[in-house]
Amino acid sequence: MDTLTPALEAALDEIREAGLYKSEREILGRQGPAVETGAGTALNFCANNYLGLAGDPRPAEAAKAALDRWGFGMSSVRFICGTQDQHRALEREIASFLGTEDAILFSSCFDANGGIFEALFTAADAIVSDELNHASLIDGIRLCKAARYRYRNADLDDLRAQLTAARDAGAEQVVVVTDGVFSMDGSYAPLPGICDLAEEFRALVMVDDSHATGFVGAGGRGTPELFGVADRVDILTGTLGKALGGASGGYVAAGRAVVDMLRQRARPYLFSNTLAPAVVAGSREALRIAADADDAREHLADMSALFRSLMSEAGFELLPGSHPIHAVMFPGEDGARAAGTIAARMLDLGVYVTAFSFPVVPRGRARIRVQLSAAHSREDVLACVDAFIRARDEVVAQA
Ligand SMILES: *Cc1c(COP(=O)(O)O)cnc(C)c1O
Repeated sequence: MDTLTPALEAALDEIREAGLYKSEREILGRQGPAVETGAGTALNFCANNYLGLAGDPRPAEAAKAALDRWGFGMSSVRFICGTQDQHRALEREIASFLGTEDAILFSSCFDANGGIFEALFTAADAIVSDELNHASLIDGIRLCKAARYRYRNADLDDLRAQLTAARDAGAEQVVVVTDGVFSMDGSYAPLPGICDLAEEFRALVMVDDSHATGFVGAGGRGTPELFGVADRVDILTGTLGKALGGASGGYVAAGRAVVDMLRQRARPYLFSNTLAPAVVAGSREALRIAADADDAREHLADMSALFRSLMSEAGFELLPGSHPIHAVMFPGEDGARAAGTIAARMLDLGVYVTAFSFPVVPRGRARIRVQLSAAHSREDVLACVDAFIRARDEVVAQA
């Protein structure tokens, strides 16, 4: 007897009534700085397409050629007969780009984070994790028997307190885990301070740099490069699903022993297929482009600075920072409604942005998150700011 459906329908109604129901907007063509929606073309400011490679013809051409040479699928996990030499080549190229001894591919960064902790740490160890870390880190840590400590977002005093507690409890291995960039705020983890504390407490440092690899740091090597601590970060995880072509796939880049142990023990690696051949080839091309994309990184930084200064001039409140994620804040009780209304009106005006409110962000901290891409032109940025101003003025006039 199906007792589940009525229970689910009731729960779904509650989600709808709370205004938390997510519906998906269907895009009618490729990803890019402008996208085709059913309602017309919209400038797109909500993709993680930081280098513009998702819709770029070059990774797509490399993937097309790979279909002919490497076929469509592998029908195997890596260790049975699912490893082509291009899988290993991509791993070596990621390691070489990030300056680590080796790297290992997963079918997503969610899987990389889901598998890494259980494979490396035991009940004798301790994991010290930033409270705003990505859901996949939280889930991966839950799957591991190590003791868990959580510190307040980017708070080095609290990190020290948690490290002290972990050491006092006699932990063998201690690892500090943080996102390189916190995606709702566009803020950076304080890596130099984290590395100092890790050294003091003989802890490892692990950074998930999904929102940084390819475009943060002078050479696009992410937050460790930005802060000059690349040689002090022990383990990096990241995604191929954002700046690096945006298709799918994740990786862990680290020392040889860590990577080898993950090949032996990480369950999402052992029990799930890896990247399809065409995605490997497209991602290799994306990584090649990203390694040589100084102009794109400079343009992205220029567009970010332009957006920030125009929005501030227009009286909007932005969280501080320099990352191409910009949180345009609508604080207070009525903020969630204002952010939602303004984002909807902006789409009518041809600019696609997303409003976030509780529980995705804290209550009273509603925002519209704007993500810039190197594929955006100056005119695109001006059009975005213009739409913000028009939508806000209309909403204010109606209130
Ligand atoms: C996007 C993201 C992930 C998930 O990446 P996928 O490859 O899409 O699974 C993991 N961690 C962080 C910090 C992310 O931003």
